[in-house]
Amino acid sequence: MSRAKLARTLREPKELVERGLARSADLAAIETIATRYAIAVTPNIAALIDPNDPLDPIARQFIPTPAELEIKPGERADPIGDDAHSPVPGIVHRYPDRVLFKLVHVCAVYCRFCFRREMVGPGKDSALSDEAYRAALDYIRARTEIWEVILTGGDPLMLSPRRLADIMADLAAVEHVRIIRLHTRVPVADPARISPEMIAALRIDGATPWIALHANHAREFSHDARAAIARLVDAGIPMVSQSVLLAGVNDNPAALEELMRTFVECRVKPYYLHHGDLAPGTGHLRTTIAKGQELMRGLRGRVSGLCQPEYMLDLPGGAGKSPIGPGYLSPQESLAGSGEGTAETRYRVTDYCGDVHLYPPQS
Ligand code: SF4
Repeated sequence: MSRAKLARTLREPKELVERGLARSADLAAIETIATRYAIAVTPNIAALIDPNDPLDPIARQFIPTPAELEIKPGERADPIGDDAHSPVPGIVHRYPDRVLFKLVHVCAVYCRFCFRREMVGPGKDSALSDEAYRAALDYIRARTEIWEVILTGGDPLMLSPRRLADIMADLAAVEHVRIIRLHTRVPVADPARISPEMIAALRIDGATPWIALHANHAREFSHDARAAIARLVDAGIPMVSQSVLLAGVNDNPAALEELMRTFVECRVKPYYLHHGDLAPGTGHLRTTIAKGQELMRGLRGRVSGLCQPEYMLDLPGGAGKSPIGPGYLSPQESLAGSGEGTAETRYRVTDYCGDVHLYPPQS
């Protein structure tokens, strides 16, 4: 394989087979998948995959398999209901104090479980038109309750530093926009993009940038990825994590623990662990909610509070995100009342070992 070939992002099913990342027996199925959903595996990500391991947790996230052709009941093109809350193109306004601003529809890599898989990829509209961009900005300017703008997509760090700097400046010039959060996979998927110019574009006067880094397995944190994250944090940009609970990737106690510890070691605060969304053809990567709760309970028992994300479900239809536990507190009617004919409500509190304690109501 030539050096030039090794240094390119893989986008064609044939290339995945040639590199030993997909089975030739799966080629026809992967070609069918590629007509609908984008494929991209950067050199950084390809280098992390062990082609001899059929269960490789990195491959599972990025290399299509025939299982994607199977659509499960309940799966849908817009699993979290973005469309129901989009007042103008590019904006999703679901909660009062914040909006999503979807600037681009391309990503460095295409995740096989992506909840926006119908919208992202080179074949889709690649960016907002100038006119749509101005209309989206006008929408934000006109609503003083918008405190936070979340740049997502697609991946906003696929923009050139110059374009990103202009967008950051436009948003920071809106007096009520105080926080600009960027959701990205670039620091792990293509760390070289985190250049001095990109960092300069992110550091603006007038608003505070935050980065939410999407990663799902500790092995994504290569030497180069850790260095890219360090450049961001050293520049004073606070970072939080976003992960998706994925069958065969991080749905076991050791993998989840190592992932969360790695975030913290890289100075990225664990924030959300998302339950897998009902995106078409992603059933083989979802777990049950019961399993997710069990994993979260185990994490609470073993790992520092710094390493605890919140387990979240994005409700289909657009109702928003809800934390889905597990819960540690529930009220219980005490059998022994404090006086004749009375019953006292006590809380049942579960400790980190799973033992239950009764706690008196506060006066
Ligand atoms: S980087 Fe994000 S938007 Fe892009 S394919 Fe992955 S999950 Fe979807």
